[in-house]
Amino acid sequence: MNLAGLLVRAAQRLGDRTAVAEGARSVLGFRDLARRAGIVAGGLRALGLKPGDRVALAMKNCPDYLEILFGIWQGGFAAVPINGKLHAREFHYILENSGSRVCFVTKDLVETIAPLADDLPALERILCVGTAAHDRLMQAEAIGLAETAPDDLAWLFYTSGTTGRPKGAMLSHRNLMAMSLSYFIDIDPIAPGDSILHAAPMSHGSGLYILPHMAAGAIQVVPESGGFDPAEMLDILPHHPGLSLFAAPTMVKRFVQHPGIENADLSNLKTIIYGGAPMYLADLKQALDVLGNRLAQLYGQGESPMTITGMSKAQYAMRDHPRWEDRIASAGQAQTVCEVRVVDEDDTPLQAGEVGEIVCRGDSVMLGYWNNPEATAKTLAGGWLHTGDMGSFDADGYLTLRDRSKDVIISGGSNIYPREVEEVLLTHPAVAEASVVGYPHADWGEEVVAFIVARPGQRVDEAALDALCLANIARFKRPKRYRVIEALPKNNYGKILKTELRGLLTQA
Ligand code: AMP
Repeated sequence: MNLAGLLVRAAQRLGDRTAVAEGARSVLGFRDLARRAGIVAGGLRALGLKPGDRVALAMKNCPDYLEILFGIWQGGFAAVPINGKLHAREFHYILENSGSRVCFVTKDLVETIAPLADDLPALERILCVGTAAHDRLMQAEAIGLAETAPDDLAWLFYTSGTTGRPKGAMLSHRNLMAMSLSYFIDIDPIAPGDSILHAAPMSHGSGLYILPHMAAGAIQVVPESGGFDPAEMLDILPHHPGLSLFAAPTMVKRFVQHPGIENADLSNLKTIIYGGAPMYLADLKQALDVLGNRLAQLYGQGESPMTITGMSKAQYAMRDHPRWEDRIASAGQAQTVCEVRVVDEDDTPLQAGEVGEIVCRGDSVMLGYWNNPEATAKTLAGGWLHTGDMGSFDADGYLTLRDRSKDVIISGGSNIYPREVEEVLLTHPAVAEASVVGYPHADWGEEVVAFIVARPGQRVDEAALDALCLANIARFKRPKRYRVIEALPKNNYGKILKTELRGLLTQA
């Protein structure tokens, strides 16, 4: 089983029909995409890479992403997609931890990535797309599909850990194949000639959607901006029938509230799949009113990508059901390839209505964390993936997410792990203690707020803390507000009580 086989078969079936488009413009047919992926694979092999070697993609969304990703698989290598918005230190960590031998970059990221190479002995080559070095790679002889076993590593998916250090979830060919099959059964069928718009990062959420859509022979559409812009989306829409896209709830809200939507012809819009964070009921209802029955939802995490629970358009359409509101506010039902339970601290399954940790198992669940046996043993204890999310089932198997046990802040659809921000703040000489929490924000879902206790006799300078964060972590992770307090609330074990901190914000 090799995921690149999905492209090979699509090329056999669909020949020169469009496989990749940039905005309205067709860029490559399936046959050409498959040929170029074979060349990427051959080029990497010619550089001396062996099956299983890691190849990183530090790239913004662009059409080249597809031939590189499938080329990596075609050669039997493992892809390490990295979010293009990360800080240089974070890129460095992931490149080092993954032991990537080659890193593909887009021009906008060369300045960030190139200086890191001196300090990364495993990284032999940085290849910038659209340069002479990339052209040389594309002169290589194409190779056929490498033999890969179902459990071979396909995608090293870096999530941020609660310890502040990202962990690489090892996703195999089998994992991503199971994920793709469950999509068709549980979320949305796809026909050849349908299209998927990559308005979210292809390194994460949107990138996973490449697979079921490739399997079905749909067109991969990359917006010219490389990102999410409601006006651009409305311009693209008339050119691509059967268009789907993945959007974080904040993106859905921005699209629904865009002034141009009122007179827009949405007939080409097939499905918006939202996920990655909870969506407020009021926003959801507004979205259903404006978009019609075009919403589906996925609940997953890097460790079981896209595939824990989900809700199809048909389920959103059941407005007559007495518990319709509760259902649409939930994260849907367990997906076909995944067993899902809610358990207590001893991993004993709980009854419907009882809140506990959500655990799951099945073919979509990762092999483990890269080079991190302790975290793997803990997270996959007893053969179940411990998601760290709290939730409860209703009697019909709809899972409602109640809280995130790991205190993750989700802002603009991106996860922010408080500890990582706290560690940076604590490096400032005036800071004695720091604790970071999320606070509900109408547009972003949550915003980052930092509580600071100053060292005796020191004054906390917000601008200095902001500069410190900008120098060390991605922009979107830095606190938007600071509160200086006398002492952090703690329990008998000295643990900081974040619930009380959130309470302080509500009182303010
Ligand atoms: P990531 O590993 O970055 O994909 O983040 C996964 C986390 O996002 C999950 O553990 C949940 O806390 C949250 N999440 C994902 N999908 C949903 C959803 N549909 N509703 C609510 N929260 C979600």
